[in-house]
Amino acid sequence: MVYSILNIVLIIGVLVGFATLVTVAKQNASESQNILMITCGCAFVSILSYTLEINTTSLEAAKVAIKFGYLGKSFVMLFFLMFLASYCKANIPKGIFALLFIFNTALLGIIMTFERHELYYKNVRWTEEGLFAHTAFDRGICYWMFMAVMVCLLLWYVILSFYEMVRRRGIERKRLILLTVAGFVPACFLVLYLLGVLSNFDPVPLGIVTSCALITTNVVKYGLLDTMQLVKEQIIENTSEGLIVVDNNENLLFANAMAKQIIPALEGGADSGLIKSLFSNQKRETVINAGGRNYEIRISQITDESHSGDIRGYVAWILDMTFVNEYAEEMIRLRHEAEKATIAKSSFLAHMSHEIRTPMNAIIGFSDLCLKLEPEGQLSEYVENIRESSKTLLNLINEILDISKIESGKMQLVDIEYSMKSLVREVISEVLPQAEAKNLTLRFRMERGMPSQLKGDGMRVKEIMLNLLSNALKYTREGYILLKLREAERKEGKVLLEITVKDTGIGIKEEDKERIFRKFEQTDGQKNYGVEGTGLGLAIVKSMAEMMDGSVEVESTYGKGSLFRVRIWQEILDEKTSEEYSGSNDEDAKDMLGQLKDSLSENKEEKKSLHFKDMTVLVVDDNLVNLRVASGLLKYYGIQVDVASSGKESLKLIKDKNYNIVFLDQMMPEMDGVETLKNIRNMGESYHDLPVVALTANAIVGVREEMLSLGFDDYLSKPIELPDLEEILIKFGNPDDEPSKEEAQDTKREEKGIDPEFSGLLAAGFDVDAGLRICGDKEAYKEILNVYRESAPDQQEKLLRALNEEDFERYTILIHALKSASASIGANDISKLALAHEKAGKAGDHQYIRDEFHTFMEEYKKVIKVLEESHF
Ligand code: ADP
Repeated sequence: MVYSILNIVLIIGVLVGFATLVTVAKQNASESQNILMITCGCAFVSILSYTLEINTTSLEAAKVAIKFGYLGKSFVMLFFLMFLASYCKANIPKGIFALLFIFNTALLGIIMTFERHELYYKNVRWTEEGLFAHTAFDRGICYWMFMAVMVCLLLWYVILSFYEMVRRRGIERKRLILLTVAGFVPACFLVLYLLGVLSNFDPVPLGIVTSCALITTNVVKYGLLDTMQLVKEQIIENTSEGLIVVDNNENLLFANAMAKQIIPALEGGADSGLIKSLFSNQKRETVINAGGRNYEIRISQITDESHSGDIRGYVAWILDMTFVNEYAEEMIRLRHEAEKATIAKSSFLAHMSHEIRTPMNAIIGFSDLCLKLEPEGQLSEYVENIRESSKTLLNLINEILDISKIESGKMQLVDIEYSMKSLVREVISEVLPQAEAKNLTLRFRMERGMPSQLKGDGMRVKEIMLNLLSNALKYTREGYILLKLREAERKEGKVLLEITVKDTGIGIKEEDKERIFRKFEQTDGQKNYGVEGTGLGLAIVKSMAEMMDGSVEVESTYGKGSLFRVRIWQEILDEKTSEEYSGSNDEDAKDMLGQLKDSLSENKEEKKSLHFKDMTVLVVDDNLVNLRVASGLLKYYGIQVDVASSGKESLKLIKDKNYNIVFLDQMMPEMDGVETLKNIRNMGESYHDLPVVALTANAIVGVREEMLSLGFDDYLSKPIELPDLEEILIKFGNPDDEPSKEEAQDTKREEKGIDPEFSGLLAAGFDVDAGLRICGDKEAYKEILNVYRESAPDQQEKLLRALNEEDFERYTILIHALKSASASIGANDISKLALAHEKAGKAGDHQYIRDEFHTFMEEYKKVIKVLEESHF
């Protein structure tokens, strides 16, 4: 009965063994699959031979079955271990397997010939004892050797699979559990057999059957030989990127070969410090250098989508960035080189244009002069032509200068306070004559509610408007041109100004709308034939708008007209809003012109005949020219004027004499205005009420409040404007009624027009009118021009010294004084340059001063040369 059951079990075992063999064979070919197939083949042979053996009835047949069985038994464990090693990627030297294979093959040879010697079996016989008739034998030395090897292999197998099982997670662990049990069962059975517990029954084949069942389950249920899985693993293992996987608690789960190569410390397992340092970076990006290469670590999360995206761990991707970095560096280097080249080109252009501008100014200046001296006749017509052509040429040069300044990064915005209404008025008055000449209607409209006083680069805003309007004029033959201003947005004390210029001109094709904003791009050659242009205007408008955090856009219907819209941010200085301001020349051109002219002269108030006979004032300024201008102006009102060129000197004078007002320059070397004021107030109680007026070149709103808070009684901006000065004089003194002689002289000057004596200055671009106005009269102007010229070498030396000693504070004070001195004589160009240096000094942009010093000096010398040649 037991025998029959055993027989049935064994037959089932044979079937299971066969099924396993088929299952494994059906899987896609891989190295592991091949080894497992051999293992299953061996197992099948073992189980089949044992089934045959217990069913034999003679010793000879049993011997054949035994020999057949050893064909499988000799190798089954060896191949099973080889499979496990290959599956787990355990590093077992191939030589060991080769040795074992040789040993087992030799043993097989011994077994095959066991009747002829006593090395394996001794005394082989047939016995009827026990459950069934079977062979019996005594064991020889080789038998024990084989058993020892089998036990060792099984132990090795169980330990290795158990170790891997503990290390792995998920499906991998499940597979290894089955593999461990598949080794453990036959191991136990073998030990039981060797201990003789089961008398003559050998349970090892049954153990092998169990293993077969487990392997089949593993293959079918857990995809043990899933090739795609293997491929994925291979890719992960062999990819050129390092991969490290950790769980939520930063326990190392896996590191591929590349990761171990880059960070050899990973080889030894999970060093928690190392893992922390790799994964704890908040930015989730770390740079490491290994073997002369740069790697970047990017961390990504492993989320479990089936569990509402729970985070299961992190993957660190170690990317080799060496090539990318080298490439990027090369690109940056090339970009720098290209930038340097364009800066050099732009700087050359800027210099050239600047050089050309000077003689151009002379040509226009002299043409102006000729026209003033000889307004009628044939010659004047020619001169008029020269003047017009020169203006066009100058315009072009200015555009090139602008664009090259923008390109070389030298274009800086100069923020000043300005009135939007005045700006519009100036712009309209400039373009109106051209519109009239072309018989075009010019309309303008500034919406109600816009802030009246703004701070920004008013000059550039004006340039934007003029550029757009002159284009509209150029490209419109009939119809109208509209300039519209409105507030698009307001936030944090700033207004987004929207300037729209609309025309009924030739329009722009859809495909050209992009490129017209590029440099030197012009469109529609045929239609525009005969229209002057460089293709720079819109590029300049765009760059300027962008510098003011703004934008420019165009809408156009080809053949019907265009609309350009510029939006720029400007600071609001005054909460006061203006009324709607609009006009048009279509109904009554004269009216509009008249209106403009009226409004333009709005500010030029009639000068009152003020006189202050009993007034004594002190003017303190470190710059001689400024001193002369101020004292000249004050004398014009009959005031007695003392001057001091430093704070220290002024203190002495104030102690000795009673002054009605002290005009104190705010920026002076050594003892500045604020310190001097403090010293004056500390001189005693009687000095507490002495009116001290700050002289400053900053004409922006808010300065007055700042000056008052510093203890000054009022402030006056340089260059001094007569109405402002008069206001101060009236505030702190009592005018008498006697008219001044100087006033009479001034009237005379106005009648005469500009004196030819100043033609040289005019030609050199001096604003002679402003000079005369500021200095009071012709004589005072000439005198101040002389002082300016005489003090120049000293100024130059001081500036150079301050620069060489890197004393930029002093440099800024000196240049500040030179700025207003230059503005006082009408040398506006040099005054503007000085302003840029002063701004740079205040902003700490010392490099700008170093770079631009030479250019500044050249310009300064040119001004001096003009003064020397004028012989006043
Ligand atoms: P340009 O000096 O040639 O006027 P711009 O940069 O100012 O250079 O303009 C570039 C091109 O854009 C012009 O050549 C012209 O074809 C087109 N353009 C500009 N403004 C207008 C406009 N108001 N109407 C039609 N075309 C215009």
